[in-house]
Amino acid sequence: MRADLTQSDKDALRRCEKIIDDGLPTFVAVGKALRTIKEGRLYRGAGYRSFQVYCEKRWRMERSYAHRLIGAAEVTESIKTLPNGNKDGPSPCPQRESHTRELVKIKDPAEQSKVWTETIEEAEKRGENVTAIPIRETVRPRRKGKEEAKKTAVETSAFGLADGLGLAVEKPELVEAFQTRLKLAEIGRSIDALQRAIDNLSETDGSQEIVFQSVKMRIAGLKLDLRVAAPYSPCPSCRGRVGCEDCEGRRWVTKKRYEQLIASDDPTTSRKDRGQG
Ligand SMILES: [Zn+2]
Repeated sequence: MRADLTQSDKDALRRCEKIIDDGLPTFVAVGKALRTIKEGRLYRGAGYRSFQVYCEKRWRMERSYAHRLIGAAEVTESIKTLPNGNKDGPSPCPQRESHTRELVKIKDPAEQSKVWTETIEEAEKRGENVTAIPIRETVRPRRKGKEEAKKTAVETSAFGLADGLGLAVEKPELVEAFQTRLKLAEIGRSIDALQRAIDNLSETDGSQEIVFQSVKMRIAGLKLDLRVAAPYSPCPSCRGRVGCEDCEGRRWVTKKRYEQLIASDDPTTSRKDRGQG
């Protein structure tokens, strides 16, 4: 096939490839510009009521593609600024949106940078160009491991209440109280789902009057209210004593109360002196 090409064909190929090569990295600049327009809601200045409508009407671009470009710009920016794990200075930046599309699936920027560095080093060793495929292969097992770890963490240390759990299960009288933590974690997941459902509205027509920041804060407040009230540890003051004032006879305390109690050097200090939990 190669032999069929004339010299002028080869020249044409080289010219076209140069154009593509020069043009590809502009996805970062485009992504950044889109992010600025979205975050500042600048599309309103062009007469559009939402970012989605703006992308579709102004640029014939689906919102999901615009978001991919924004994600690509963010990944590239963080790789550019984060130190490279193995070498001095940052890694060379991704040159293709398809590369970053895999990397955005990793939430932690340091981790993104690490995966990217590892992939280009592997490709260099094999004398190959970096493509999306090896990046995807590096990303996938990490995501899977993370998701499993996250699931376990939610189930075992519901609402981040790790400390008291081991102690609690050794005390049969506290099992019921500490099972509440798992129920609260379940409610926490429902609240997260609620937040996601509301987030998904944010670009649709009909949601313009929703003050998303305010909704978000209230949902966060709701989660906090439940979290601070959850059983955290067996009461460190009781030790089987009847009529304990520190836990009001419940035999368990919240995190705040627990921290107050262990911070107090004198175990005979009365509750009132330490402030209310
Ligand atoms: Zn107590």
